[in-house]
Amino acid sequence: MPAGLRAGIILFLFWAGAALHAQEYVTVSPGKSDGVYTLLKRYGLPPSKVMIARFWELNSDLVRGGEYLRLGFEYKLPVYKLYYDGASIRSSLGISDLALARRIEAYNHSLYEAGVLAAPFKKSRELLVPAYWLSESSAAAEAASFPIFGPAYQSVKQKDQSLKGCVIYLDPGHGGPDPGAIGQRGRDRLYEDEYAYDITLRLARRLLEHGASVYMVVQDEDDGIRDLAILKHDDHEYYLGRLPISRDHLRRLSDRVDIVNNLYERHRKKARQQIMVTIHLDSRSHGKRIDIFYYYQANNPKSKKLANTLLAKVDEKYAAKQPGRGYEGSVSTRDLHVLSEAKPVAVYIELGNIRNKKDQDRFIIADNRQAVANWLCEGVIDYVK
Ligand SMILES: [Zn+2]
Repeated sequence: MPAGLRAGIILFLFWAGAALHAQEYVTVSPGKSDGVYTLLKRYGLPPSKVMIARFWELNSDLVRGGEYLRLGFEYKLPVYKLYYDGASIRSSLGISDLALARRIEAYNHSLYEAGVLAAPFKKSRELLVPAYWLSESSAAAEAASFPIFGPAYQSVKQKDQSLKGCVIYLDPGHGGPDPGAIGQRGRDRLYEDEYAYDITLRLARRLLEHGASVYMVVQDEDDGIRDLAILKHDDHEYYLGRLPISRDHLRRLSDRVDIVNNLYERHRKKARQQIMVTIHLDSRSHGKRIDIFYYYQANNPKSKKLANTLLAKVDEKYAAKQPGRGYEGSVSTRDLHVLSEAKPVAVYIELGNIRNKKDQDRFIIADNRQAVANWLCEGVIDYVK
């Protein structure tokens, strides 16, 4: 199989109604009497030549001196382990094919009946899907499709694997009933949540191009990446997993962190790094000539390093783009709920103040929003290195 195609399948990513991430495969530890044939059969896969070849390809790191199963090792099966959002299989997987959804439901049911799964998927929130069912039904080979980015940007091509194994939580500030700060520009109103969301989506897309697993903590099906100057406001955002964003301020903050921390635990063993980036476009400081504030977690040197790395990268890029403009960034710690409670290495960024005329100039131009997303992505890559 050509390398590009293989990367495309391994990183076959799609909008899980809940999460954007590289697929996790089901793993098994073979018993004494197991062979590849019996493992495939147990998981309802046709033990064909193609499937057996696929199995060894997935487990190429375990092939030493011959393609045979060894006890005490975990093998990957060509079956994805996906998140069930509690609503429906179609919304969980971002698919519209009802027949496929029914097939997946029957598949999981039969695995449960056979005792392969300990709990029904509605309880475990985990759906198993044979990988080839999805690659058959979508254009998974070269580019993965993420409807969350909107029609113009939904196709995402893999550029490299520099962020492979990294789980990144992107947390655009506010959303739902909470628009955040509101700026006035002529007759238009600029809403912080919409701009933070747009920049965060752009960052998510970049991170995916480098092989990261990305979770958008806030999502809005209506709004993909928008190249407009004035981003129309709505309150349709919800939290990952289709949780409504509470009207209650404290509840809103704790829900946000709980969602991330639960996922953090799920990825704790296997992730190479887990990072959370919160993005806001308001600022507590007025009149100071500081462009971007980076806040890190108190007593967490990794968080401080991430904040400094992001600042250095944005600083470098900014200086190249607008020489002599006198850019200034600031890194400090701050007692914020999302920072103090989040388990991943977290940074909270204020990209500017949407109420400030000068800052508005930077945000209403779509290219500028893209540029800052690109730089933050490069900063994350620098940090992970
Ligand atoms: Zn804010």
